[in-house]
Amino acid sequence: MSEAAQNNPAFTPRVFSGIQPSGGLTLGNYLGAIKRFVDMQGSGVETIYCVVDMHAITVWQDPEALTRQTRELTAGYLAAGLDPTQSILFNQSQVAEHAQLAWIFNCVARMGWMNRMTQWKDKAGKHAEKASLGLFAYPALMAADILIYHATHVPVGEDQKQHVELTRDIAIKFNHDFKTEFFPITEPVIEGAATRVMSLRDGSKKMSKSDPSDASRINMTDDADAIAKKIRKAKTDPEPLPSDLDGLEGRPEARNLVNIYAALAEMPAAQVMAEMGGKPFSEFKPLLADLAVAKLAPISSEMARYMQDPAEIDRILSGGADRARAIAAPILKKTYEIVGMVGAGA
Ligand code: ATP
Ligand code: MG
Repeated sequence: MSEAAQNNPAFTPRVFSGIQPSGGLTLGNYLGAIKRFVDMQGSGVETIYCVVDMHAITVWQDPEALTRQTRELTAGYLAAGLDPTQSILFNQSQVAEHAQLAWIFNCVARMGWMNRMTQWKDKAGKHAEKASLGLFAYPALMAADILIYHATHVPVGEDQKQHVELTRDIAIKFNHDFKTEFFPITEPVIEGAATRVMSLRDGSKKMSKSDPSDASRINMTDDADAIAKKIRKAKTDPEPLPSDLDGLEGRPEARNLVNIYAALAEMPAAQVMAEMGGKPFSEFKPLLADLAVAKLAPISSEMARYMQDPAEIDRILSGGADRARAIAAPILKKTYEIVGMVGAGA
């Protein structure tokens, strides 16, 4: 955290991150985000974790499914070890300040910046004309999610690096335009062996909860049989595993499975290579499946237990929203004052 402390001497370190309830949680979400959220909790720094339902509706979500997915994602956070007394846990739409600050940032960010975002290009694809305006403006809302708490650190997967950089650009431009140092220059925190878990069907594509192919991902709620089957069918090449990292050059599918193993076993990828080098995939895949089941099964059964009591989940989200609002409201008020909106100082 030292670099951010230098960039942001006036700001107390604070961690914020979020996940969209746009489907069921995947192994990518777990290793690239949730597991790391849990690791950052209790380190003496305030941690704020959000279910970003307003991001989810940038693409069509069936209302009933959105409600269920919001609760299920919260259950995933809790089951993985987030403690609502240690971290602030809530869903975005309950704290209106996110949307209010996002509007200000819509007026700070430039069209050209948004046009360069790879997530926009990937998700809007060839049909940009038909994509929602919200999908285009997504990164400005994400900047508001982060900056409404003056968060200094954002743990994310590799795919979100560009959006955190845009958050920094928005903070810099706001501070410059209004001759202030009000917003911190937030640092992305992208660490560990699995910052980009790839699709099991295509080693060049990120594993995503919104991928139409269920075989492309391991869901947190998959049972042991489904996990074993998906790993067995995962695309690989005919060579056995090499015994060092250099041997993974040009073998993205093999690299992906090794990285997943390393992250689940909490060991460096080089050690996985040293232990597994020479094994054919027919031997390595069952070991990986056993490890994935051992790590995920306790979390998914705990998720199922939480899902039996939706009222308790809603109570946790509402309590978290109150705590989040207490931080966000004065920051929004000050922002309005800086911008010159009448009534903001009242
Ligand atoms: P969607 O397909 O709807 O965009 P997603 O699986 O990409 O869903 P997000 O809610 O967009 O999930 O991202 C939540 C967090 O999970 C972010 O920090 C993101 O970087 C991380 N993440 C998502 N996919 C992966 C992945 N394959 N590997 C590592 N981290 C990931
Ligand atoms: Mg995503």
